[in-house]
Amino acid sequence: MQRLFAEGLTTGTTGNCSVRSAEGMLITPTGMHPAALTPGSIVAMNLAGDSRPAEFAPSSEWPMHAAIYRTRQEVGAIVHCHSRFATSLACSRRDIPAFHYLVALAGGDSIRCAPYATFGSAELGQLVVDALRDRRACLMANHGQITVGPDLESALELARKVEELAAQYQACLAIGGPAVLNEAEMNEVFERIGGYGQPKRSQV
Ligand SMILES: [Zn+2]
Repeated sequence: MQRLFAEGLTTGTTGNCSVRSAEGMLITPTGMHPAALTPGSIVAMNLAGDSRPAEFAPSSEWPMHAAIYRTRQEVGAIVHCHSRFATSLACSRRDIPAFHYLVALAGGDSIRCAPYATFGSAELGQLVVDALRDRRACLMANHGQITVGPDLESALELARKVEELAAQYQACLAIGGPAVLNEAEMNEVFERIGGYGQPKRSQV
């Protein structure tokens, strides 16, 4: 959270992060500025939503984090933020197509935008799980972006990439729209990405 804030990917108290733990997950508390966070502010909870007695309440987005951990065994960490360009695309409810080969880093030939549901709702959690199918990132309509990975470092790095891609895609839209890569071109990218040790399509 402190790095998201320092890098301008989040402002104020928006955004939240979690990591999988033996009993469920460790998640950032609700309404706390990143600068004020300490290890003691992190909330431990199981994936049904019961938290260990803690000084702070968990992020209101805990149902979304729990839904992802319940359905994606390979996911070890989740980063959610309202970064500027990813959020402006999400507010126009646009998927990011394969306008740049690095869209492949999210696991497929697009970064989907999950339909809208109220923040903190179980419905939003399900919509995000659906949009993340075979992917490691998605946009969330009228809300922001979310990334997953085996660990926090990977999820954070992907959040940076999604924000950069969102900014580039938005710039393309402003000058008449991008030329989108076709399936064969993207398949070649997936082969090469696999070739230099990065995750292949559909894997975290
Ligand atoms: Zn949010």
